[in-house]
Amino acid sequence: MAQDRVLIVGGGPVGLVAAAFLVAEGIPITLIETQQDVADDLRASTFHPPTLDFLARLGVTAQLIEQGLICRYWQFRDRRSGAIATFDLAELHGETAFPYRVQCEQWKLAKLLRAQLEACGDATLIYGARAVTVKQDADKVVLTAERVDGTMEQFTGTYLIGADGARSTVRSQSGIAFEGMTIPELFLSLSTTFPYHDTITDLANINYIADPDEWLVLLRTPSLWRVLMPTDPTETDAAMMADAQIQRRLQSVLASPKRYEVVHKTAYRVHERVADRYVFGRILLAGDAAHVNNPLGGMGMNGGIHDAANLSEKLVAVLRGANPSLLARYERQRRKVAIDTVQAQALRNRIDLSERDPEKRQAFYDRVRATAEDPVKHRDYLMRSSMIASLREVESVQ
Ligand SMILES: Cc1cc2nc3c(=O)[nH]c(=O)nc-3n(C[C@H](O)[C@H](O)[C@H](O)COP(=O)(O)OP(=O)(O)OC[C@H]3O[C@@H](n4cnc5c(N)ncnc54)[C@H](O)[C@@H]3O)c2cc1C
Repeated sequence: MAQDRVLIVGGGPVGLVAAAFLVAEGIPITLIETQQDVADDLRASTFHPPTLDFLARLGVTAQLIEQGLICRYWQFRDRRSGAIATFDLAELHGETAFPYRVQCEQWKLAKLLRAQLEACGDATLIYGARAVTVKQDADKVVLTAERVDGTMEQFTGTYLIGADGARSTVRSQSGIAFEGMTIPELFLSLSTTFPYHDTITDLANINYIADPDEWLVLLRTPSLWRVLMPTDPTETDAAMMADAQIQRRLQSVLASPKRYEVVHKTAYRVHERVADRYVFGRILLAGDAAHVNNPLGGMGMNGGIHDAANLSEKLVAVLRGANPSLLARYERQRRKVAIDTVQAQALRNRIDLSERDPEKRQAFYDRVRATAEDPVKHRDYLMRSSMIASLREVESVQ
């Protein structure tokens, strides 16, 4: 029956993970994605340990690891003086089956899940269709989508998951507010073939680098290094992206006699926002549609995947007869994580990395050094930064 079907809008990592969890429980889904294919652009690339645990239940972690880079260590560094503190994720042995981060582009996960879903009879994946309107009554949700050729089509389901990203149509169609703020600087993300690890010999594969004028993140993926840095939003796109300007900025990170080979470059505006509601009758929000934050800590996509796991478990129970009020618990749990953990930690990281006051900067360095040197604090910090603690803490939220 069409009414037993769950509609999912958005074929990013969150929509696809929700689809895979539902299908694994025998719930049929229809997923509507506006793009014709998975976009292999430069976005999230860090998978935290508990996300790997969730994805292992879907049978894709081994392939993700094969296509990614296992990273046991990560660092806080000072742009001029080097390493401040190194964290060792092996300390999480016993807490997770994967005591490391995996650096792997998010589109690789999307492609793996898409292939898995396409091979399964319960999933209908419709690419090249844009959700336009969403309406619900007491029994069902009706979605209208526009195909690439302009034809309109209606889909009916018992529930609808809006996983359609930061500019969610599902959210706006449902009249749900998305309050918060916009970070003044743009985030410039570059990828280069330059082997930073050969030149800076004590560099970890994941580095958060503090500087009063220009913080940096240096992340290694299997084939490239990614450089993330703040950018003046008053600069025109043409000036910001001009080759000479990009070369100048990379040379200021590390002087090299050769030109940097730049493979991708993108600048994007970053917001810190959380939706007022995640549950609106039969319409449910997850991932960037529900919350967005800065990428310092790699918690956006990971938090979205944790939403998808939590939501699908409850939705399966409701579809098997549990009281629909269970879905409100999804909102209470995951909204709390978005505000108290993800947003708070991402904001803290941005403040710490860009601190201009020398005394406060020194206090930050002293704090992270002391944390890394104390085995109990070190482990506790890893439990929080790798998002295991937030998953456990919300178990007590009814
Ligand atoms: C340029 C950029 C760089 C980023 N870099 C990082 C990073 O370095 N680190 C990090 O942690 N995070 C980063 N992020 C954030 C990260 O990519 C997101 O947190 C993550 O993609 C969230 O997954 P999602 O599935 O919720 O949303 P998305 O990945 O945005 O997926 C939403 C999907 O919905 C589709 N869609 C949208 N509207 C409709 C509609 N009306 N109908 C049908 N389909 C629709 C979109 O095409 C898209 O495929 C970045 C984001 C951007 C935009």
